Amino acid sequence: MDRMDGPTTPQVAQLVDILNDVARGFSNNEWGAGVRMYWVLDQPSIGFQIFNNQQIQDNWMDTNRNPWLRTEFIHAALVHQGLPDGVLGFAYSHGVMITCVHAVLYSNDHLIAVSNVIKTTLAHEITHTLIYPAPQPPFDAGNHLPDPNENGILYGVGFDEDDLTYLMCAGGAYPTRFALIKFSNPTIKAMDLRTKWSVEE
Ligand SMILES: [Zn+2]
Repeated sequence: MDRMDGPTTPQVAQLVDILNDVARGFSNNEWGAGVRMYWVLDQPSIGFQIFNNQQIQDNWMDTNRNPWLRTEFIHAALVHQGLPDGVLGFAYSHGVMITCVHAVLYSNDHLIAVSNVIKTTLAHEITHTLIYPAPQPPFDAGNHLPDPNENGILYGVGFDEDDLTYLMCAGGAYPTRFALIKFSNPTIKAMDLRTKWSVEE
């Protein structure tokens, strides 16, 4: 994990709490994935920067990636703002990026603690790296689940409030998803720790 200094970035102590809570989420008895997550805070204070284009951002991700960790660890970065603009977080071939300005805006809009938004977004994006190279059913084209609780009511066809509480639900950023790191059975089944996107490829 790398952390960029910035007007919206949580302090290091808060980030440590966030990482511990994400790790607990993956191995939680009731709603976890049966996965033990280990994390390393590599660079806690990289200088503030705005990414003016995708190339600059990708180079920043690659340059800041620790060569000793890269063979097993997913590279995640907490930044002020990333591209594409407007999203809370994303997983791609250069790693996982969480954009704090959007986490803060989202938390203000929905009266949710910003640390919760960051926690669940980080868990969501890490999970994307573990279910690569899907998508295949029951996941949709974006690698999200229309029916994470498997009760037959698909998101967008009927309305199933419970689906929206799951980490990988295909419902966009619903506030209920940010309360708890909650894995569904189809997500757990699709996870493959040997093929972490951006690490083993
Ligand atoms: Zn997603």
